[in-house]
Amino acid sequence: MELNERAELDTSQVNDLGRGGGSGGGGGMGIPIPGGGGRGGLIGIVVTVLIALLGGGFGLNAMTNGEDGGGQSTGKPLQGCDRSNAQRFDDARCRNLLYVNSIQDYWEKEYPELGKGKYEPTSTNYFEAAVNTGCGQADSGVGPFYCPADRKVYIDLSFYNELASRFGAKGEFAAPYVLAHEYGHHIQNLLGTNERAGQGDQSGPRSASVRLELQADCYAGSWAKHATESKDETGQEALFTSITPSDVAEAVQTAEAIGDDTIQQRSGGRINPDQFTHGTSAQRQRWFQQGYDRGDPKACDTFATDQL
Ligand SMILES: [Zn+2]
Repeated sequence: MELNERAELDTSQVNDLGRGGGSGGGGGMGIPIPGGGGRGGLIGIVVTVLIALLGGGFGLNAMTNGEDGGGQSTGKPLQGCDRSNAQRFDDARCRNLLYVNSIQDYWEKEYPELGKGKYEPTSTNYFEAAVNTGCGQADSGVGPFYCPADRKVYIDLSFYNELASRFGAKGEFAAPYVLAHEYGHHIQNLLGTNERAGQGDQSGPRSASVRLELQADCYAGSWAKHATESKDETGQEALFTSITPSDVAEAVQTAEAIGDDTIQQRSGGRINPDQFTHGTSAQRQRWFQQGYDRGDPKACDTFATDQL
């Protein structure tokens, strides 16, 4: 992939909360780590939290200290990501800002086609170590997530190192895939689709959770298909000048690395489909690819098919 050096980025779409997420840091209750602790189950934890966020099953709201009502902090606008800084794309903060701009530009155009009105943009919050959100307090171990209550995407950018070193998803295109997946959950929130998360089983190969996660992968694919059409803040410049087949392959490889079955195996366990929440590696790859091949979120109805 190539990023357009001339692009003017919209810094209002990302807030930098810094260390401790502006909630005083330290303290807090963090996220309980299932399955014996350690960092081995990183993505498993992501899984747990997303179920919690989408399904309310784990009562994340009960995890706030309550001092500031679990509200989000304001954070600082990103600095140094404007065009005058020729090195800006060496900085992960600026690159990820560009991805967020591109994903939202895509949905500005595409969302109205879904017949539910206008897209409502939302920002991504960068944090380090821990963060206080509308869904409770979280630490970096949870991985990136979307909080439906405050409608924000949260990411500690060091997650990408973890993804590369622990899960072998080294490709640069892993990052925009992850963000596009999280924005997929925002789309589901706007559409009301995520209300289905509370229905039926909380996990399992045909659960609403798996269907929502595969749909978010498919939405990420449909964004990727159109990413080079996305425009910068001025509406004049492209954000990506190119996306190659090897980028798409990197996204697919990332989807493979974070499938439920692969993670269960990696963490030394047996494959247990009853615990699936995001779908298998094969399913995640397939739905990303489906989104990419069709380039249309309407092709992402994971609730309408038995062929997950
Ligand atoms: Zn997800």
